[in-house]
Amino acid sequence: MSVTRKTLIAGNWKMNGSAAMAESLVGDVLTGMPDQDGLQLLVLPPFPYLAQVILQCQSHSLMVGAQDLSAEANGAFTGDVSASMLLDCGASHVLVGHSERRELHSEDDQQVAAKFKAALDAGLIPILCVGETLEQRDSGLAEAVIHRQLDAVLEMVSIQGFASAIIAYEPVWAIGTGKTARPDQAQEIHALIRSRLEAQDATIAGSIQILYGGSMKPQNAAELLACEDIDGGLIGGAALQAQDFLAIAAAA
Ligand code: PEP
Repeated sequence: MSVTRKTLIAGNWKMNGSAAMAESLVGDVLTGMPDQDGLQLLVLPPFPYLAQVILQCQSHSLMVGAQDLSAEANGAFTGDVSASMLLDCGASHVLVGHSERRELHSEDDQQVAAKFKAALDAGLIPILCVGETLEQRDSGLAEAVIHRQLDAVLEMVSIQGFASAIIAYEPVWAIGTGKTARPDQAQEIHALIRSRLEAQDATIAGSIQILYGGSMKPQNAAELLACEDIDGGLIGGAALQAQDFLAIAAAA
């Protein structure tokens, strides 16, 4: 594919940190950020620190997003946060369907698709996470699982919904485990995702960013990011150390 896509390195902090840690981590990232054309950096702090991080990033190119959202617009949904609230406080991106939400909160494909649509409708950029478990991979079901997760969203928003969205391939067996997909394994699934979209719209498929996530670290980032269809990384553990996060960005 000859399209040049920007590389996005996104840091998912998960439920880690404190106000002080957020301030110092973001300060260090802002200080060390490479000013490189074609490279974008995004941090995804927990909800309580979003506003302070957004304030700290004002007039910088570091983007800030959230880790989840409600599919509902407003109302009696205690504990939930809507897309318009995230937009209101200045977030630009939001994760949708992270495997920890699918597993620990039993989010199914339809709920994930509804969240994706809610994000799009509000003007946020959804980052759709897809990925298979080890059991599914070992049973030869990886492709079917990725297609099912992708198709649920395609059915809800059509291919046009992917014109301003991002996809993250995160094999569940590689998240937080220290096991990373080999570059050829990751590239195979990234190409599969792109070709699923290509069947409906080649332009959107050619320009969408598809990130790899799952124990990406400075030591393995370069070879993963060198793959043709890997347009960046969704980083968990390594995003909590500015040095590691920046080293991954440098590898890009
Ligand atoms: C993640 O949480 O999305 C993730 C990729 O985590 P880790 O990098 O720690 O595997």
